[in-house]
Amino acid sequence: MNLILMGLPGAGKGTQAEKIVEKYGIPHISTGDMFRAAIKNGTELGLKAKAFMDEGNLVPDEVTVGIVRERLSKDDCKNGFLLDGFPRTVAQAAALEDLLDGLERQLDHVLYIEVPKEDLFKRLTGRWICPTCGATYHEIYNPPKVAGKCDKDDSELTQRDDDKPETVEKRLEVNLEQTKPLVNFYHEKGYLRSLNGNKDIQEVFEDIDAFLKGSNK
Ligand SMILES: [Zn+2]
Repeated sequence: MNLILMGLPGAGKGTQAEKIVEKYGIPHISTGDMFRAAIKNGTELGLKAKAFMDEGNLVPDEVTVGIVRERLSKDDCKNGFLLDGFPRTVAQAAALEDLLDGLERQLDHVLYIEVPKEDLFKRLTGRWICPTCGATYHEIYNPPKVAGKCDKDDSELTQRDDDKPETVEKRLEVNLEQTKPLVNFYHEKGYLRSLNGNKDIQEVFEDIDAFLKGSNK
């Protein structure tokens, strides 16, 4: 089962990845982990990637794709893998097809967890923290008893810069722009499976599970 998992920030991709990996026994391959491992192990490509990052440059596709190739060639990927965070662009998606051809493998599905942008915005901007004791709250999932105040010490709650509406708006826009062509690419190839992510975590996983079981791969 060779899978790609896609979803905008806040769509619950990480949580679903954990559940898929646990149930199907395939490795979760996130770009961040892959880079860290390659750098830590001092592989040739890892060192190349590090050199670009140290200078504050983007790692070129040929290096990234090489690192993906190394990772997918490992024994634990024999029965499948769950890619997360790669590919990010259509060029990378095309390179992944070639790479998999070379390994005599084929992609099975691209799972895309879809949540309307307005709902992602609410999820991502709902987090508040207490500057006194560090307690965290969420307007939807874990609201304080009195709006804007810490339950424990009554302090005025604050927001991290990352959780502020203008930052979140920008992040979602950038991600949406990046995701659209990739979604179209996989749709045209027949790999895309969109899933309604606007449900609770367990229900979303049940949909994924039912789809994967039914697909016989
Ligand atoms: Zn507090």
